Amino acid sequence: MKPDPARAVNIVGAGLAGALLALFLARRGWHVALHERRPDPRQSQPERGRSINLALAARGLRALECAGVIERVRPLLIPMRGRMVHEPSGRCALQPYGQREHEVIFSVGRADLNRVLIEEALRHEGVSVHFSRQCLGADVAQDRLRLRDTASGALHDLPLTPAIATDGAGSAVRASLAAAGLVEVREEWLDHDYKELTIPPQAAGALERQALHIWPRGGFMLIALPNTDGSFTATLFLARSGATSFAALATPEAVAGFFACEFADAVPLIPRLLPEFATHPQGALGTVHAAPWHAGGSVLLLGDAAHAIVPFHGQGMNAAFEDCVVLDALIEGQPDWAHVFLEFERSRRPDAAAIAQMALENYGEMRDAVLDARFVRRKRIAMALERRFPDRFIPRYSMVMFHPEIAYAEALRRGGVQAKLLEQLDPGEDVEPDAALAERLVREQLSPLP
Ligand SMILES: Cc1cc2nc3c(=O)[nH]c(=O)nc-3n(C[C@H](O)[C@H](O)[C@H](O)COP(=O)(O)OP(=O)(O)OC[C@H]3O[C@@H](n4cnc5c(N)ncnc54)[C@H](O)[C@@H]3O)c2cc1C
Repeated sequence: MKPDPARAVNIVGAGLAGALLALFLARRGWHVALHERRPDPRQSQPERGRSINLALAARGLRALECAGVIERVRPLLIPMRGRMVHEPSGRCALQPYGQREHEVIFSVGRADLNRVLIEEALRHEGVSVHFSRQCLGADVAQDRLRLRDTASGALHDLPLTPAIATDGAGSAVRASLAAAGLVEVREEWLDHDYKELTIPPQAAGALERQALHIWPRGGFMLIALPNTDGSFTATLFLARSGATSFAALATPEAVAGFFACEFADAVPLIPRLLPEFATHPQGALGTVHAAPWHAGGSVLLLGDAAHAIVPFHGQGMNAAFEDCVVLDALIEGQPDWAHVFLEFERSRRPDAAAIAQMALENYGEMRDAVLDARFVRRKRIAMALERRFPDRFIPRYSMVMFHPEIAYAEALRRGGVQAKLLEQLDPGEDVEPDAALAERLVREQLSPLP
């Protein structure tokens, strides 16, 4: 049966956001054609060069629940209760993420999650996925979506109908809109890159599985997240150039010396350090600022295509999933797409800007502040305030990770007020802060949460 063009949507990119969005739309009876550059992940190895596993938190979980797929995803999840900080001395200390039983985040494999979402979308009759089909761009003036089969080279020209671009940080659709003067784009690249390394199950040994491991070293850091097969994926974040940088690690001797000096306790965990370091890609990290996110009712950018962020708050996928929930809620009956896209952007833009800022700020926290006595002390005071005033004071990290009912922009705003308040309350040494002052400041400055 040919899809009714009035109930058809094209989605470009069957990654995390595209596959989930297809599911949301299919549940509302839409005919969705997904166009994906990669081959079918059910029949091929996942591409290297993307993060292998990701931290899933409450916003992402809520989206998966809304889409009715949480039970299929649950077996893929490994809880991480806190940051296991590996100090240069070799000492380890767990810093819990939250203070309630359910305040954990989850490690999930990108490829497995993507496969489940695609499978679930394909259970709906109206969904089709065209793999190995690369989008070349959208031509809004001509109402065309241009695609090419990567194997045969065959070209396809489809009406936009509309098209929703979930083709990631390097979005071809975004580039074509920018080239046509319909969207302005600014990419802000970090001067730090990343490289992934493998901790195989047999080497992981006693490494605590229910934690996100961090080796913070000031200007750089190593992290590791668990996988369901008993392995961990480690990621080195390091400056691209300079004295301590990827550029300076140009020989196996330099790599071995750097790891022995900076991450001595991690060296036995990564038995293939040298060959992997030489062959695994060095990824770049950046923030994408684009405006507007839509061209009338023809094209919408969503997820990383609209607002890619650096990964240090573990929120890019979570934010992209939250985008899907917001868009889904705006689609009722036979929508006026221009209105829906405008409302989507109006509602999401402040939140996307807020999480982009908080993600950048969190890099400093992860690689540096977690070792800092003042940071640890203020975190302890914040947790005590949360226990005392649970309806007014929630640490910013917890608002972002565990409270999807608090928008990112509100978490940023309240977080700013709270940071000043903590500065006033921090006695600067290991004594209890003034309880009466805390009571007065919290009640004066923080309204009750809804
Ligand atoms: C190192 C690293 C670690 C991260 N860790 C976390 C984390 O812990 N938690 C978290 O929430 N987020 C994390 N992120 C961010 C997360 O990966 C992204 O925010 C998320 O993947 C965005 O989903 P998306 O669907 O918008 O884009 P993507 O997942 O990138 O999907 C885009 C899809 O479009 C396809 N595509 C691209 N171009 C074309 C084209 N021209 N035609 C057709 N198809 C195309 C791609 O093949 C892909 O399938 C991390 C990112 C990095 C780089």
